[in-house]
Amino acid sequence: MTQPTNRDELAKMLFPHAIPTIQELEIRYPARSVPFVTRFAPSPTGFMHIGGVYAALASERFAHGRGGIFFLRIEDTDKKREVAGAIDLIESSLSRFGIPVDESVSVGGKYGPYVQSERRELYHVFARDLLLRGLAYPCFMTEDEISEIRTQQEAMGAFPGIYGEYSVWRDATTEAVREAIDANKDWVLRFRCPNRRPDARVVVHDEIRGKMEMGDNFLDIPLLKRDGIPTYHFAHAVDDHLMRVTHVLRAEEWLPSLPLHLQLFEACGFEPPKYAHTAQLMKTDEGNKRKLSKSKDPEANVEYFFERGYPAEAVREYLFNIFDSGYEPWRAENPDATPESYVFELPKMPRSGALFDLKKLDSISHGFLSSLSNDELFERMLEWTKRYDPELAEMMTRYRDISFSAISIQRLTDKDPKKFRILSDVRDYLSVFLPALFEVRKNARPSLDTPLDPDLSRQILEDFLGALSTLPGTPDEWIVSVRERSKSFGMAQTNAEWKEGGHAGKFADYAMTLRLAIAGGTASPDLFETIRTLGLDETQKRIQDRINELG
Ligand code: GLU
Repeated sequence: MTQPTNRDELAKMLFPHAIPTIQELEIRYPARSVPFVTRFAPSPTGFMHIGGVYAALASERFAHGRGGIFFLRIEDTDKKREVAGAIDLIESSLSRFGIPVDESVSVGGKYGPYVQSERRELYHVFARDLLLRGLAYPCFMTEDEISEIRTQQEAMGAFPGIYGEYSVWRDATTEAVREAIDANKDWVLRFRCPNRRPDARVVVHDEIRGKMEMGDNFLDIPLLKRDGIPTYHFAHAVDDHLMRVTHVLRAEEWLPSLPLHLQLFEACGFEPPKYAHTAQLMKTDEGNKRKLSKSKDPEANVEYFFERGYPAEAVREYLFNIFDSGYEPWRAENPDATPESYVFELPKMPRSGALFDLKKLDSISHGFLSSLSNDELFERMLEWTKRYDPELAEMMTRYRDISFSAISIQRLTDKDPKKFRILSDVRDYLSVFLPALFEVRKNARPSLDTPLDPDLSRQILEDFLGALSTLPGTPDEWIVSVRERSKSFGMAQTNAEWKEGGHAGKFADYAMTLRLAIAGGTASPDLFETIRTLGLDETQKRIQDRINELG
């Protein structure tokens, strides 16, 4: 005769070690005094996706914008995917993007540990409780048995997984379980899913998308794996409960798991948090919108933005733009406000396909760099080069004065050319000014790319060289006098003059002849300022070198 399952006995067999009671845990992790608690819960895979930063920033702003708490929890239940140094990468990425956490592995906090692998005992407390209440059961099926079932299901066109008639250990007797344990068989603890019908539907509520009907969970999913480590689904339910999370803002890819998660909260007797699934970041690729892909798109990795020299503030500002449709109009009315003063609302977040547009980011980055003082910009550039272009950092330090003056040319004046888009633009820009880089710049240019006849160019340069030390010292007078010199070489001063005919060239050609010699290329900062920054000696030397080259 089969014996009824004795759950107390089962619990003693499966959880032989002393663990706390639920009541003890409820006291250890009391209700928090703030109404909004959010978290960022990445896995330490060594890759920080820009979509992760989007979700983290949304979570942080949602809580902090309402006087709440935001913490970081590392979800390392899948040890196979874990990469050394990944936690540091996550923490440093958050801090580089200015996303402050109130609690984390390094900050600490009362609701820790903040790494799931250190919370094993907590999961066991609730796993044992589910077992005692008949809501979980040990399953001794081997991997081979499971894959046999899968093959059978495939052949029959049935849904894959352990459910319904396939959950053979769901109602096993205490005796059968004891035998399996005595035989040292591995087990996983499975959820006794209240729904056994694959076609069941459920209505869920998402804070961004509202009411949604979707397929309910019907699987007896594992709660604890063979090694006693919980699955992500179970761990997050226990953690979000004990850590008193009120709102879960996470990527859209978790939406299909929501019915299962709600079942788990219900089974454990927890009040579920409110869920908000943020839209996947998309890009336009040859006219089509598609998901930003970790393997195809370098910009999926946050390191891309740091390496290219996007200031973190610009990336943040950009992310704010795609958070909530109210941000852009708000920003237009409050151009000087910090983005933190905008309190964004979940229902205004995009429901699908938030477009990640690098061109828009470029223009925000450009605007941000243009708003910095000369000192701030120089320091930012130096800091960036120290990490990503040490050779240039060394030069910028050695030639600090000239680098600083060069970067500052015409900035923050009426003539401000707003020349920097990203911090890495500094290399090309300084190649006009720094001797070692200037050589490389010059050599990269075709030798006879002169707009005027080489002989005429040489004469122009010889004349300019002779006059250089006597040219006026204010920009307006300087340009008048340079134009005079160009006239003496028969240069048309306007397009109309040029069309009349009879000129050897245009003033622009004359100026380009000087620019090629002095700045080593066709694009350069304002020539007057460039000469002033380079100094007389260096300018003379460059002109002379060019004369020799043309000669
Ligand atoms: N650990 C999950 C991830 O890496 C987090 C999902 C969640 O936030 O609940 O995406």
